[in-house]
Amino acid sequence: MPPIYLDANSTTPVLPEVVEAMLPFFTTHFGNPSSTHQHGQHARAALDHARESVAALLRCRPSEIIFTSGGTEAANLALFGALPPTPGPTPRLITAATEHHAVLHAAEALAARNPSPVDLTILPVDRNGLIAPSALAAALQPNTRLVSLMLANNETGVLQPIPELARITHAHGALFHTDAVQAAGKLPLDLSPTGLLRDVDLLSLSGHKMYAPQGTGALFVRRKTPLTPLLHGGPHERQRRAGTENLPGLVGLGRAADLAQAWLSTDAPTHLTSLRDHLEAGLLAQIPNVHINSRQAPRTPNTTSLTLPGIDAEALLIALDLQGLACSAGSACQSGATEPSHVLRAMHLSDADARSTIRLSLSRLTTPAEIDHALNLIPATVSRLRALTPAPRSSLTHA
Ligand code: PLP
Repeated sequence: MPPIYLDANSTTPVLPEVVEAMLPFFTTHFGNPSSTHQHGQHARAALDHARESVAALLRCRPSEIIFTSGGTEAANLALFGALPPTPGPTPRLITAATEHHAVLHAAEALAARNPSPVDLTILPVDRNGLIAPSALAAALQPNTRLVSLMLANNETGVLQPIPELARITHAHGALFHTDAVQAAGKLPLDLSPTGLLRDVDLLSLSGHKMYAPQGTGALFVRRKTPLTPLLHGGPHERQRRAGTENLPGLVGLGRAADLAQAWLSTDAPTHLTSLRDHLEAGLLAQIPNVHINSRQAPRTPNTTSLTLPGIDAEALLIALDLQGLACSAGSACQSGATEPSHVLRAMHLSDADARSTIRLSLSRLTTPAEIDHALNLIPATVSRLRALTPAPRSSLTHA
């Protein structure tokens, strides 16, 4: 059996159609989109086309898309751009404990900014990883300028009730940003004036989670939303993000957006959900003392967070990797770190249970045969590892 890749939330392969679309832009059409000659004009047309494709995926205007180097830059631009240093009362930023570090660390940097720090409120989540809309409503204060809450969590796949959270924020007169890095391309997103996400002002996405290359991303900025640039330089991206655009990469992102839209319009997302559910049912049936996190909450179709008390997640990862199955412990950005996942800790898992948790994330390319093979490998490896260690104590209620 060839290697099985169940780590799509870390990064996805670049689809062949995407590579094909990109290739001419390294060689024949290598122009700089800012140049006036024909090479530049061709590059500009391709960049405009990519912007139209991303806008079509999000149901927004092309002029509302700023291309970035990825999800981290998009989130930083949203937070720092919406909260520039200003004289007057200290503005407040509200975010949540389970956000990706691209948001959490940016929020902490804003709170530590000197001069002009922001007041920071970090909302808690329940055991499923969900934010209570009433908790947001209670946290909003007269100085709240920005609320940043993620659409889909990278570790559990849990989906926050963004339409409601954004509506509450708008009713209060603050701006709303959502990190949609793990949702774009997996779920329909509608930012149009009548769409479910109509109260979202800023939305971040990343190319390498949706079959485009690493180092590409975008920030949606709703028309008339004030935003101060992070980077200073040329007038690129309507003066909101200086620097020559990564043309081949962004052409790839545009093509990936077209492919995502086509994928979303078929029954493929339902098949992906069934495949993930089949994996979960098989794991629950074969492994004693196992828990699937956020199973009771709405989730992305591809993600499983599995707590296996008594198992060291890193040891399991290595054992599975040696047998050709790739997955991750917590989020990839933390692999190698000794701290247990902040997401799982915020969901009230004990340190020990958080360290015993792996994430399996399927891709559009995952096949039923691969899932069946994973269902042979994982239970056998878990039982081998458990035989080597004493029985654990877990704080979890098992499904
Ligand atoms: N937000 C979420 C939810 C993510 O999962 C990631 C990457 O793992 C990011 C932001 C950062 O995106 P990028 O790797 O493109 O900087």
